Amino acid sequence: MSSTDQIQPVAALPRPKPLLLRHAPYFIAAAALVFLAASMRFDGYILNILMQATTFAIAVFGLSVVLGLCGQINLAQAAFFGFGAYAVGLGTTDYQLNYWICLFGGCIMALVAGAVLGLSTLRLGGHYLAMVTISFQQIVTLVMINAIWLTKGPDGVSRIGRPSLFTSSQSYLAFCVAVLAIVGYMVWHLPDTRLGRAMRAVRDNELAAGVNGIDVFRTKVTAFAISAVLGGLGGGLFAGGFAYISPDQFSFAESIVFLTMSLLGGVASPIGSAIGTGLLILIPEWLRFLKSVPGLYLAIYGLSVILIIRFMPDGIWGFVTAAYDRIRARKPAPAIGIPLVLKPAATGGDMVLEVTGLSKHFGGLKAVDQVDIAVHRGGVHALIGPNGSGKTTTLNVLSGLYEATAGKVLLDGTDVTTMPPHLRTAAGLGRTFQNIRLFRSMTALENVVIGAERPGNTMVGRGDATALTERALAALTFVGLGPRANELITSFSYGHQRLIEIARALAANPTLLLLDEPAAGLNSSEKLELHELLKRIAAQGLTILIIDHDMTLVSEAAQHITVLNFGRRIADGESMAVLRHPDVVSAYLGTD
Ligand code: ADP
Ligand code: MG
Repeated sequence: MSSTDQIQPVAALPRPKPLLLRHAPYFIAAAALVFLAASMRFDGYILNILMQATTFAIAVFGLSVVLGLCGQINLAQAAFFGFGAYAVGLGTTDYQLNYWICLFGGCIMALVAGAVLGLSTLRLGGHYLAMVTISFQQIVTLVMINAIWLTKGPDGVSRIGRPSLFTSSQSYLAFCVAVLAIVGYMVWHLPDTRLGRAMRAVRDNELAAGVNGIDVFRTKVTAFAISAVLGGLGGGLFAGGFAYISPDQFSFAESIVFLTMSLLGGVASPIGSAIGTGLLILIPEWLRFLKSVPGLYLAIYGLSVILIIRFMPDGIWGFVTAAYDRIRARKPAPAIGIPLVLKPAATGGDMVLEVTGLSKHFGGLKAVDQVDIAVHRGGVHALIGPNGSGKTTTLNVLSGLYEATAGKVLLDGTDVTTMPPHLRTAAGLGRTFQNIRLFRSMTALENVVIGAERPGNTMVGRGDATALTERALAALTFVGLGPRANELITSFSYGHQRLIEIARALAANPTLLLLDEPAAGLNSSEKLELHELLKRIAAQGLTILIIDHDMTLVSEAAQHITVLNFGRRIADGESMAVLRHPDVVSAYLGTD
């Protein structure tokens, strides 16, 4: 702690150099690779292996986006690969079209197919998505084999053309390597973009992503579509490289091969994808000498894949980076001198939240029943009640996680009753969860940056990455965790995780902050700190609706209290009067 105390607080973070300048070494290395691919004299066998590895890796990068970043399964990557391959194959032969037009068309077809498939299925959960992508894959295979008039059926397509610029295999390979390098660069940097952060948030915790302003469905569909496009691109390049394609190259088995490649190398990163692709293409070549014994080759091949995945669940590259993470000391975050300014929007007059007749029924259970709540601007309003009285359910309906059975919710004058969570967040709602919901694979800072990125946050200019980091650091500093911003969530105590969740909500500069039992699970000194924190938040004029069991905290912090019991509002009003209300006393003490 003392070492970080000595760091002079900076008023602002330095603006980084342009991305392309910072990554000049990458591009120099990539150019060198392209040059090597163009100038070395490979024999045909090596050339084929390199061509296959390069084009496959592009498709596997797609899985790194959809599965690695966004956590959605795609078991039809070979079908998307086939879209690209057949577009180039049939386009350059039957239709005599320009290679580039065919390649572009193939990518568009894969994109459209991916988007339509995603739009129709991504609202469904994991298993359904797997089933649907498998079915889609099977349909595509059936069409490739049976629609002979279109695809030439099992005979496949031969004499596929290449662009006139790259007619020799060697130059075409160099072109593919260049494409791989560019795509790899984009996939590598995707996690640090707004879209990439949204994908990681969706993968880590969908509910928390939604209430932090991320359109979960759109993010998933985008990830799926990107994955499909990369499949199509890889397939288009593949067709030009081998000049011959047939349906068996794009079967379900090949989709599994793509998936295995990404899991083997490490699905989280394009480096892992590249390693996995290379290995899975090379292992069969290395085992070629075993081919005299039938079956042995496949058994060893399968066993080695199983062993690698069993002992390196995050893939080879995941294993390496985890080992590196253990020995590397995390840099303390720069101490930031900017104070956290909370400037809640105010459009709805004196009322920040007006809830009327709100009900939420689960079958016959009336978890929330005809509840009215009116939260005045700029104060702390407590929602209390015995366990199971419907407090959390009320908050879930307010933040859009549950659809209201009846009633109306006005947030700062806007009717949000039927809005999805991310739009309510954009309209100014912030919240924390009773059971902490952080993005657990990320650092504290990354969690809070996602909060700061809320659409509608006027405190941060759109697209200003440095300002986002500054805002997030200021929020973490506000809750007392600034120096530890670069640590992973898993290294924080329960109490500190709560503070990070609050910082994430504060960074978004909400109009109304909903806190669900923030003191639950804290020890007494942590509770005191939380109490101080609440005072400092309220002092900035932010309106808070808090659920809590701690009557001392509630009576000291809140000016207004609403009491629920069995889903119904049994008391409402100024704090002291409510706490003395006979119904409230009996609800809590269980006596008459
Ligand atoms: P509190 O937060 O006040 O302790 P909750 O709002 O969590 O209470 O729960 C209120 C009632 O609603 C409980 O009886 C609970 O079992 C029920 N409930 C909450 N969520 C669901 C759900 N998703 N499905 C069915 N019942 C639920
Ligand atoms: Mg609760």
